[in-house]
Amino acid sequence: MAKGYVANRERLEEIAGFGKGIGKRAGFACEWCGGKDDLRVWDQRPDLPPGMETLALLCLRCRGWADGRQVEPRELRAIRDALWSDVPAVAEGAARVLSRCREPWVREAIEESFIDETVKTELLK
Ligand SMILES: [Zn+2]
Repeated sequence: MAKGYVANRERLEEIAGFGKGIGKRAGFACEWCGGKDDLRVWDQRPDLPPGMETLALLCLRCRGWADGRQVEPRELRAIRDALWSDVPAVAEGAARVLSRCREPWVREAIEESFIDETVKTELLK
């Protein structure tokens, strides 16, 4: 069995261990848009050990955006409020998706949010 596969499986098991806590925190709704469609834990920082700060409960549509699916500016208003979350995976993750759309309201919303200043600067440059 390939080593990468085992590492990935171990990570998925670790993430699954947080599932209950994340679901409770999220109130069993998408932490970006509040939707309830096919909710799953999303791993914002695969480069770090998984934890409550780096995991978010997202619906199918939001996971698609997180994975790089093209965003429609109109649809994105649904995740604007996620910028105000105190969970980095929720606020920064949403900010990264929002920043792919160049509309003025997006820049303003990111500027006003409390996400990490370094991330903010990177997203608004
Ligand atoms: Zn969602």
